[in-house]
Amino acid sequence: MTGLPMNQDLPFDEEAAPSRVSTGDLPEPPEIRALVTEVYERYRHEDGGAVADYIPALADASPDLFGIAVVNPWGQSFEIGDIDTRFSIQSVSKPFVFALVCDTLGYEEARVRLGVNSTGFPFNSLMAVELNDQRTMNPLVNAGAIATTSLAPGATADEKWDAIRQRLSAFAGRELTMSDEVYASESATNLRNQGIAHLLKSYERLYFDPDETTDVYTRQCSLEVTVHDLAVMAATLANGGVNPVTGETVIGPGVCRRVLAVMASAGLYELSGDWLYQIGVPGKSGVSGAIVTVAPGKGGLATYSPPLDAAGNSVRGQLATKYLAERLGLNLFASVPAAHPS
Ligand code: GLN
Repeated sequence: MTGLPMNQDLPFDEEAAPSRVSTGDLPEPPEIRALVTEVYERYRHEDGGAVADYIPALADASPDLFGIAVVNPWGQSFEIGDIDTRFSIQSVSKPFVFALVCDTLGYEEARVRLGVNSTGFPFNSLMAVELNDQRTMNPLVNAGAIATTSLAPGATADEKWDAIRQRLSAFAGRELTMSDEVYASESATNLRNQGIAHLLKSYERLYFDPDETTDVYTRQCSLEVTVHDLAVMAATLANGGVNPVTGETVIGPGVCRRVLAVMASAGLYELSGDWLYQIGVPGKSGVSGAIVTVAPGKGGLATYSPPLDAAGNSVRGQLATKYLAERLGLNLFASVPAAHPS
């Protein structure tokens, strides 16, 4: 059950000869603004879900916090609610660190070393490691994400951490820093992630020291962001890897589309199929309550609301994203029958 042989020989190199893109544009700014306000009002009183508490520092977040941000490919943003609140990025860091590793190793080598299939198991599963010959199934659940962090460029833990922090900052368009409180809290309680790292090392599917890798991974999860930062990061993935606010090329377009592919297959853990079925765009959620969504060529969307469902996905975030995806026309699979030329 390795799933690896596919797709070894691409018929052309799209970095050299970019193919056409498949999507259109977002609506005009006034309509986006109105929709963002509408969706915020619609779901702000929704009270399902529970704030994560397995990392003690996350348990204090107010369940009432709710922020939404959309950034289009011209870097214009449309935001409402708790847009200045800082929170730890957690699992939303994973696709961006995967992008860095694809850039370092090449996206084919990254696929071979990390995998790109969904696990069908919760994000912190050891069973997923034991039951699959490939051990790491994809870079967006903890096992594959910790292996991804182990492949970050640099010979030492400090160099890897610098490379990760710098690249995620380039995605966000500002210097990101760590929450010392979340880092200390998660470091004191992350025995399960340490276990995953050691298990992967025993299978030779971790590429750096397990304890140091877990530490860098915990730092990466503790980076502080706002919902605006996440929307800019998502918009960079929607814009062929160029940050639409700073104009910086953060990642190549070939890496960008692979990152979106793994987000589509695994971004919402074991509910990724439901997400794609209902919403139809790549997304990534995190345990502090954020979800990023990327509509290729159209823009990035981020929501922040701490109460989570049983799989660890923000309840209000999923509702708001579904509503906005429909109203903004984000679903990648949507088409309507063509008017037949008579
Ligand atoms: N740092 C968290 C962990 O490893 C990230 C999990 C998440 O956001 N789902 O447990």
